[in-house]
Amino acid sequence: MSKNKSSESVKVVVRCRPLNRKEESIGPAGGIVQMDLRLGQVILRNPRAPPSEPQKTFTFDAVYDSSSKQRDLYDESVRPLIDSVLAGFNGTIFAYGQTGTGKTYTMQGVWLDPEKQGVIPNAFDHIFTHISRSQSDKQYLVRASYLEIYREEIRDLLDPNHGNTRGLELRESPETGVYVQDLTSCVCKSIKEIEEVMNVGNQARAVGATDMNEHSSRSHALFLITVECSQPGPDGRKHIRVGRLNLVDLAGSERQAKTGVQGDRLKEAAKINLSLSALGNVISALADGRSGHVPYRDSKLTRLLQDSLGGNAKTVMVATLGPAPQHYEETLTTLRYANRAKNIQNQPRVNEDPKDALLREFQKEIARLRAQLNHRRWRSKQKKEQMDDEAWDRDGNEEEEEEEEVEEEEEEQFAKLEEQRLEKENEAIRDDRFLLAGEKQKLLGENEKMMGDLRKRQEATEQLTARYKAMESKLLVGGKNIIDHTNEQQKILEMKRQEIAEQTRREREMQQQMLIQDEETVELRETFTSLQQEVEVKTKKLKKLYAKLQCIKAEIKDVNDEHVRSRQELEQTQNELTRELKFKYLIIENFIPPEEKNKIMNRLMFDPEEDQWKFKPLVPDDSKSSQMKKRPASAVGYKRPISHYARVALSMGAHSRYRAENIMFLELDVTPPNPSALTDGEQNQSPSLNSSPTKDKGVSKSQSWCPSQKSMASSSSNNSLAGCQTATTAVAM
Ligand code: ADP
Ligand code: MG
Repeated sequence: MSKNKSSESVKVVVRCRPLNRKEESIGPAGGIVQMDLRLGQVILRNPRAPPSEPQKTFTFDAVYDSSSKQRDLYDESVRPLIDSVLAGFNGTIFAYGQTGTGKTYTMQGVWLDPEKQGVIPNAFDHIFTHISRSQSDKQYLVRASYLEIYREEIRDLLDPNHGNTRGLELRESPETGVYVQDLTSCVCKSIKEIEEVMNVGNQARAVGATDMNEHSSRSHALFLITVECSQPGPDGRKHIRVGRLNLVDLAGSERQAKTGVQGDRLKEAAKINLSLSALGNVISALADGRSGHVPYRDSKLTRLLQDSLGGNAKTVMVATLGPAPQHYEETLTTLRYANRAKNIQNQPRVNEDPKDALLREFQKEIARLRAQLNHRRWRSKQKKEQMDDEAWDRDGNEEEEEEEEVEEEEEEQFAKLEEQRLEKENEAIRDDRFLLAGEKQKLLGENEKMMGDLRKRQEATEQLTARYKAMESKLLVGGKNIIDHTNEQQKILEMKRQEIAEQTRREREMQQQMLIQDEETVELRETFTSLQQEVEVKTKKLKKLYAKLQCIKAEIKDVNDEHVRSRQELEQTQNELTRELKFKYLIIENFIPPEEKNKIMNRLMFDPEEDQWKFKPLVPDDSKSSQMKKRPASAVGYKRPISHYARVALSMGAHSRYRAENIMFLELDVTPPNPSALTDGEQNQSPSLNSSPTKDKGVSKSQSWCPSQKSMASSSSNNSLAGCQTATTAVAM
């Protein structure tokens, strides 16, 4: 399964956007970011430092200044990655940086302007153009999914009711690595379709958020494309390669403003930037290389990107910067972050013939439908053959497409002819004067049945054909499904542009290499003609090294300062958390009875998957069925279960009490209440009343009513009403 097991580092490119109008109006200071495109260096100036302080220089795989074009970034830094995905590698591109520095601009850009289209639309174009230009023995299946992570919850942006459901869960399989369970994925057959998928997701994102800008700066968006490609190998069997592409627009990397009430602040600390700080920790751990444990499990984002950082994927990180002096600190942090990411090593390999390839299933289903269709056609052909009394040789089962169409037409014609023949026969029977009426009817009926059968058969075949065609249309065949409008000249132009991009990249790499070598080897080659010269050269070198030393010292101071700052922040957060904890303890210790507290504590358990405390169920799952009594099923037609006694009473005669509690059947009793019956009842019971040990009137009266109930069961409803009245008075008293 594995191929090309060499390791390669994460590619890091930096892009700086132009000053915007607001920043231009603030001050004449200009940008603080300078770029050396040839060497791939970013030079950062500290606006508050004295001019003597050396500037900070960082080197990356490529840098793009404010005048850079979307297309340049794509051709140089992204195109090779997409090519790898098309060859069956996993690939990830993520944009990282402060809010408003151009992450979304880089990833999506302006959709309707071809000049300003970002990485995602360009990748769509690239993928489908590649498919249309590839050889016709290749079959492709392209799928897309779109999700966002907001407050540590994964939301499916293609699921219409994603707002109502709870966040999706992450799962892990040895075959595909970490994946999102139940994530919607749409099969896309063209650029238009995949763009539509993106639009639907973007709209869902916007609808879910009250303030889009606020929302997008705090949520991570992941667009996933899976490209499966099947091609016959040298062994004659079809081999499938699966490339997965993650296009990630991260949340803004700036420190979230720490304002607001305590509860909010805590939530913020706990959730909002958790993914991003976890990403930072993962990058540090990987870049360091020494620490064995990489904390992927700390957040949803890092788990999803596990393969992209230190795993089986090729990864490009685009770090975005703003040139404004007021954001110096954030810009420096972004550059440091990016600089660290350069050291991450991945082990990309081609995913060949994975078990879960959907393309394989599609191919099997298509083959099955085709076999079914062929069988049907063969049967109807045989019938035709019988009728025409013609000899017919059955072809081999490998039909060509044209042949298939001819057969389809033939079959339709045959069905039509058959129908016409039956119609004619019907007419002939009707016109036949020598036939008896009964016989005529019988023959007509038979014909009618045959016609019905014919139609049913035809319908079934049509349905089968439709399903077969629908399935087949989902697969893209190289050089066929999409009409390529570009002419030869355009193609050549594209090729040339790619070549130039490739050359620029190589040139930059060489320049960087030379720079490093220069520094290392210069002294080895030097021979000095005079002492004077030696002194000069060495002084120059000393100066250079001194400057470097200063740079590194400044760097150390910066890092120390940052460390102190972040430690202070952490301490502050910890203090607040402790205070909150003390507050909760106070409430628990003083206001919750200890036995209640113990009960609750015994029922609580921690779910590490969801990172939440949960209540254990009151009744264990397995004993549920044995402990809980089943509710008796009601008698059919009645609202409540009925006792045996009531059932007997019901069958004996209609007493209103047992008419299944259906008040609609109760006849109104219009006779006036009979006072004598009431007094009779009371008198009858008086001895028992007197003998009752309790003197409480209410209780004894209701008791006196109870025994009389039995005798009343067989008497008229009139009496029972009177009884009821007594009961009510008893209760009232
Ligand atoms: P983010 O997604 O990082 O918060 P956006 O992509 O929304 O930032 O960019 C903020 C603004 O800056 C947008 O109006 C965008 O058009 C503009 N912008 C960003 N990068 C560039 C660029 N390279 N060239 C021109 N305009 C840019
Ligand atoms: Mg954005």
